[in-house]
Amino acid sequence: MSTTSVKTRFAPSPTGFMHLGNVRTALFNALYAHLHSGHFLLRIEDTDLERSTDAYAQQLMQDLRWLGLDWQEGPGTTTEITYYQSQRSDVYAHYYAQLEQQQAVYPCFCSPQELALSRKLQRSAGQPPRYAGTCAHLSESERAVKLAKGIQPTLRFRIERDQSIEFIDLVRGQQQFSSNDIGDFIIRRADGTPAFFFCNAIDDALMGVTHVLRGEDHLTNTPRQQLILQALQLPIPQYGHISMILGHDNAPLSKRNGSLSIQELKQQGWLPEGVINYLARLGHSYTDDNYLSFKELAQQFSLERLGKAPAHFDEQQLKHWQQAALHRCSEEELWQWMAVEHIVPVSLKTDFVTAIRANILYPKEALQWAAILFQEQLIIEPNAQIVIDQAGSDFFSHALTALEDTQADYAALVKQLKQTSGKKGKELFMPLRAALTGQTHGPEMANVLPLLGIDKAKQRLICWIN
Ligand code: GLU
Repeated sequence: MSTTSVKTRFAPSPTGFMHLGNVRTALFNALYAHLHSGHFLLRIEDTDLERSTDAYAQQLMQDLRWLGLDWQEGPGTTTEITYYQSQRSDVYAHYYAQLEQQQAVYPCFCSPQELALSRKLQRSAGQPPRYAGTCAHLSESERAVKLAKGIQPTLRFRIERDQSIEFIDLVRGQQQFSSNDIGDFIIRRADGTPAFFFCNAIDDALMGVTHVLRGEDHLTNTPRQQLILQALQLPIPQYGHISMILGHDNAPLSKRNGSLSIQELKQQGWLPEGVINYLARLGHSYTDDNYLSFKELAQQFSLERLGKAPAHFDEQQLKHWQQAALHRCSEEELWQWMAVEHIVPVSLKTDFVTAIRANILYPKEALQWAAILFQEQLIIEPNAQIVIDQAGSDFFSHALTALEDTQADYAALVKQLKQTSGKKGKELFMPLRAALTGQTHGPEMANVLPLLGIDKAKQRLICWIN
């Protein structure tokens, strides 16, 4: 295959907000397509009409764009075909008809209750539950009687017994399934809507998808999908099933164990480049530990480097990449991201951004520093209060004198205070920081003091002088 013909896809069901697990699947597909100068396709799998909403579909597209995972084919790229499965019923009808003509499928009139009972009996006999084949060989007249009773049949795909279905998984290697373990399966529900396996496989084939990277929970769907496509003589993509992401409790990452939606991450100020750098390394190993652009991540992406074992979500790592992404932002980008212009004068933009950029991870921390430096009222943290009390009134008298004498030149102030107070190191720096900022940690005081200004600094020192 020529490298230019690679086409990958992301096929989400718009039944909820996208979270990190979904996005990693999209990312791996986008990276693989980019590596091969191919196309990354987006298809909206909205066949579950009750749970799918257009709002979720719109949101997931917005999320993908925010992350820089634009698609070359999909909603908005052409009007020739639709990428919404809910609008592709005619396409599926065509292939149902073809399968009917080939007698590869049959209508099944079994009720959910009958099927449940049959499964129960099979289990109690120590057999794996498979469709018992009750409707597999009904005559035309038997079918007509059931239809006349108004029973809406499902459509089942007929599977030959004792067949071995094999394929090489792009991640997991050789796979083998027995057709006896699968049993005849439903490809169209009684309400006429297509089963997931069916339209997912048909669309991959018709849309020219060559490589499918998806969650390992879909591994057992693959033999069914291969059988459908073989029966229709449609091309079969290569499938790769990527490992799950587990939360801190070893359960699959979900809202319950702390996974945030992409929207929530955005609202909290996580940067898309940091999120992407983190996710690309979650279940895929890179030898390069540096921050990489999307292009660089793609160049170093390799199917061989995808892990088979589950990956563990680690917020510390996400923070690490957030910091790396922040480090690369321009002053203007950071200023926009911080959104503190209602507190910090624009004339001090450069000084403010320079002072705090290395000390923050989220905009809310920038806001906190803006308030500390530019608002009158100062909240003293309990730890800072302890340090202030330990330093005592005399220390702050000396500090005030030094501040006035040096006109808030921090280096000179420290030098004078060292002499007059007799303190040095932590004993000198900590109470000074605590009184001026209310915190025991934070940006370099040499950068903080000019932003605070001499008047505000004076007021804050005077507070602690008896
Ligand atoms: N709509 C399916 C899902 O969201 C797609 C599965 C696949 O990638 O094949 O799970």
